[in-house]
Amino acid sequence: MNEYDSSRMVDLMQEAYGLRLVGTPEDADVILMNTCSVREKAEEKVYSELGRYRKIKDVRPDIIIGVGGCVAQQEGERIQKRAPFVDMVFGPQTYHRLPEMVKEIRRERVHLLATDMPEIEKFDHLPKAVHGGFAAYVTIMEGCDKFCTFCVVPYTRGPELSRPVADVMRECREVLDAGALEITLLGQNVNGYIGIGPDGEEWDFSMLLYAVANLPGLKRLRFFTSHPMEVNDGLIEAFAELPVLMPFLHLPVQSGSNRILKAMHRGHDREHYFRLIERLREARQDLALSSDFIVGFPHETDEDFADTMHLVERVRFDSAFSFTYSPRPGTPASKVADNVPQAVKDERLQQLLALLRQQTRELHHAHIGRTEDVLVERASKSEGDMQGRTPDFKIVHFPGTPGQVGQIIPMRITAAYGQSLRGEPVEPA
Ligand code: SAM
Ligand code: SF4
Repeated sequence: MNEYDSSRMVDLMQEAYGLRLVGTPEDADVILMNTCSVREKAEEKVYSELGRYRKIKDVRPDIIIGVGGCVAQQEGERIQKRAPFVDMVFGPQTYHRLPEMVKEIRRERVHLLATDMPEIEKFDHLPKAVHGGFAAYVTIMEGCDKFCTFCVVPYTRGPELSRPVADVMRECREVLDAGALEITLLGQNVNGYIGIGPDGEEWDFSMLLYAVANLPGLKRLRFFTSHPMEVNDGLIEAFAELPVLMPFLHLPVQSGSNRILKAMHRGHDREHYFRLIERLREARQDLALSSDFIVGFPHETDEDFADTMHLVERVRFDSAFSFTYSPRPGTPASKVADNVPQAVKDERLQQLLALLRQQTRELHHAHIGRTEDVLVERASKSEGDMQGRTPDFKIVHFPGTPGQVGQIIPMRITAAYGQSLRGEPVEPA
């Protein structure tokens, strides 16, 4: 989400002022920091990074420094007080006003704070995406209304708002015309999408998926992130019926304990999750699954954690992001005692990671000997190698050339590692 937002900021500054990206902040005339406040220490990280920018501004006082994103939204004036050399502080709902803010600062050398949350029409103000190349991201919704008790997103990004179907389709057509083969639809809970369709009716996420899937030129369709409460029959059918929809689903569950799921306000129990996974796997046998987990939520007991381990053993995940709980300012969970000792959180995280890593290794291993279509993305870190992704989102390294970027190449998988696979093109280049 933030990467997408950053590329939109680049587009805006390019369009308004002809500014281009430079490699280091030392070379920049405008420095924009895009921040995330989902996990702990986000604020400290911002201030320590700002220390570096301060030194640049000491030498070149004319540069403009801006802090945007969710930390900016939450910290607001505190940033201006602690770091008075920052020219503007702007929240996620105000990106479209960036050119205007920069203009004002250049003209009057004022300090600006933009953390209001207007009824957003920010989608309407953004220039069309020029970044992305063969793989493009299209935001279909903003914000979140779920209010999970641990999460800052509803407070920093505001209420859920879906773009009209016609706007999403237009942007998808544009990126396809510009050469994209793969489109990823983005949002905090994309499957909660309810957008006004061209027929004036409300379209749900699966209806949107079917429409996008039919666009000529599209080879791969993905989406991030979905919520278990809003996986409906239409979405399950889409996995069965749309070959262009890739067999990968990130479906965060957070915990395997019904008691903790309730305290997190996730709106479902473990049995609901198991049923969903069964139905999804029936619909699409090669579906790869990934999830997010939080360990050490307030009052999580050994039994609760054992339930999470059991859920992981039963479901088997191709990949996952796991975190120790940290209280986030303003959230309901932060008002109850963060009473699981750090050492216990760390120990649980290590156990969970060990199990997840083992599953990833085993599921990766099962790919050896198969032929997979790999969309080539970029040069890999090891020399002479390129890397790309399988339909189920696994990274494949292979001997290749930069000229292959953006091609879909069939490869035989020859080896499997913890984070990636190794392949060889079936037909030599
Ligand atoms: N919308 C997605 C969902 O419902 O699962 C997740 C969005 S959140 C930005 C990304 C992940 O950060 C969450 O799934 C959760 O695992 C993690 N996270 C959020 N708040 C956290 C907290 N207070 N402590 C630890 N991890 C947290
Ligand atoms: Fe945060 Fe929950 Fe919304 Fe996901 S669904 S963004 S975890 S509040």
